[in-house]
Amino acid sequence: MESLSASFQAPTATMKGDSTKERQCDNASCGQQVHLGDYKRGVVCSGCSEAQYCAPQCQEASWPSHKAACTVPASVDLKGIHLCVEKNGDDEEEEEREYRDDSNSGSEEEDEDELDMEGEGWMTAIKGVVVDIEYTHPETNATVKVGHAFLQVINIPKALTFPYGFFGCLDDNSRELALLALHFDEIGRLCPNNGCWQPEDFDLEESLVNLTVLVVDVPWRGKGIGRDVFSKLFELPELNETGLILSYPSVLNHLEPDGVNGRFGKRTAEEQAAYQAKWDRNVKFYQKSAFRRLANSDFFCLAKDTTHPSHSIPIDQDAPYQDLPPPTTEEERLQRFMAEKM
Ligand SMILES: [Zn+2]
Ligand SMILES: [Zn+2]
Repeated sequence: MESLSASFQAPTATMKGDSTKERQCDNASCGQQVHLGDYKRGVVCSGCSEAQYCAPQCQEASWPSHKAACTVPASVDLKGIHLCVEKNGDDEEEEEREYRDDSNSGSEEEDEDELDMEGEGWMTAIKGVVVDIEYTHPETNATVKVGHAFLQVINIPKALTFPYGFFGCLDDNSRELALLALHFDEIGRLCPNNGCWQPEDFDLEESLVNLTVLVVDVPWRGKGIGRDVFSKLFELPELNETGLILSYPSVLNHLEPDGVNGRFGKRTAEEQAAYQAKWDRNVKFYQKSAFRRLANSDFFCLAKDTTHPSHSIPIDQDAPYQDLPPPTTEEERLQRFMAEKM
């Protein structure tokens, strides 16, 4: 028994300093084991590839003390930043299709097949695009992942074929998209408003693009990467059919507690104040990156075309947030209820 426990304990002694094995979190006040790999929350510092943390929160918390030891470059040549689309989104779509094909294989009525073919349109109306943000060091040519982003590409014609229409399609996906849909009419066009974005801006859009996640890893922040990524997103083939990127500024808040969604979540006064401060910082970052408010909503929009009026509005003259006016029709009332339900 003794030898068994000795051989069981031996590896932990050599784990310290070996960055490829599981070991204790480098956040001094944590002490939990780090679990790396798919579906695990552990992270390796992308600045030095040495420090390891059990979760992103621990990495963020210990950055002030790790900063001096980290070998992340002091500045970044933005020409070395490039975006790489992960194929996962497509695979899921393929799997979905295969699954549906399987379920049809035993079908006796051809009518059912036809119904399914029609249904496929709205099933794929919203496509997720996972983007890795990578940096290739100009001297060493070494490439490292420095962050990631997630986009939802909403194909408007397909969304309109959804059984409950454009609003239903977006509401079916998430509360965030339902809140966005409140500002669009039944054919997926922006409602008239007093801001710098007008229905005509969305006329030629085949799709709406919603940026839901943008995370630059802790060691790489403050080097201009986030703003650079915004402009490079338009170069992705997935964004060929759009010149606009919509976003809800909490996307940078990847450390928000689970289950809290949007600014109406149930928080203590202290949590709410911290959240509001983060929100305000994110809005400022968006506005500095040329996003301007969509109508009077909580969403912001960026135009690829730098001659669009939004690009000439000074930040301090951007539209303010205002609650939507009370609904005037039964349909509006219902949509409002659906979108704002907790
Ligand atoms: Zn930890
Ligand atoms: Zn580091």
